Amino acid sequence: MSNSCQQLTIDVPEELKDAIIGELSELGADGIWENGEPLPATTRLEIYFNTPVSLGAFEACVGPVFLRAGLAVPKIVVGTVAERDWLGEWKKSYASFPIARGFYIIPSWSDSKCPEDRQPIRIDPGQAFGTGTHETTQLTLECLEDRAGKLISAGLVLDLGTGSGILAIAARLLGCDRVIGCDNDPDSMHVAAENIERNTDFFIPIYCGSIDAAQTNSVDLLLCNLTADVIARVFPEIRRALNPSGIVIFSGILVEQRGQIRDIVEDSGWTIEDDRTRGEWIAMVVRKPE
Ligand code: SAH
Repeated sequence: MSNSCQQLTIDVPEELKDAIIGELSELGADGIWENGEPLPATTRLEIYFNTPVSLGAFEACVGPVFLRAGLAVPKIVVGTVAERDWLGEWKKSYASFPIARGFYIIPSWSDSKCPEDRQPIRIDPGQAFGTGTHETTQLTLECLEDRAGKLISAGLVLDLGTGSGILAIAARLLGCDRVIGCDNDPDSMHVAAENIERNTDFFIPIYCGSIDAAQTNSVDLLLCNLTADVIARVFPEIRRALNPSGIVIFSGILVEQRGQIRDIVEDSGWTIEDDRTRGEWIAMVVRKPE
């Protein structure tokens, strides 16, 4: 029984912030707070663990991100603070907002009204990824929206790494008739299924797993907001599962990783049809040849 939790504080360069937050979420951080800019282009992160981690485990988690950037791990300050209701505090900060051209995200517990010219997506992300606040989700949604008119409505859309289900829901609301989601995190499946039910009567199956479970040449549009490393790892499976002339929207790629993904895609003879940047993130729309 404890009513205190461990707090670690570290100042990180702005361009590494998202990668570090991602790693720390994987490590099981219960709360990550961005708390000001101690130096220009630097963010102070306060990371909270209800179950303390060793400094070694923390360094082993964030170290590779700094190493890849050719930087030393900055000083880490370790302390203890009273335990907080992370979920409650976070819920207060998650408000409704417009996203892409035609959608409006509304937290499931909010009674906000959706503007008339937008479609609501009601989300309770729980512990899953996919609040809609992240640039990588926004870029994917914008690319999806721009393609919607050109989508074969009978084609199969697979949302790989569905998280909260936000992109699968958007694909359905944009008129896609066959949408499936998957995630290798079992918790996501339940969260996504609940969100789907909140937003559409349409059946969108969600399975626990990844692209290797998809049939060969079966997917017409793949939504793929992962990370560059995961994309590189699963690319052979993506190549197999995508239908000839099928499209992938890759997102979750840092600007400096653009070349890595571009090489993989072009070495396979695929065409890059769109490439967008937001902040430190890019998304690429790619087509497999006939
Ligand atoms: N689609 C949501 C969430 C993206 S976060 C959005 O755009 O906001 C990435 C998600 O991919 C996470 O839920 C993570 O659990 C999942 N994931 C990571 N690697 C995966 C893999 N190899 N196969 C399936 N899902 C994966």
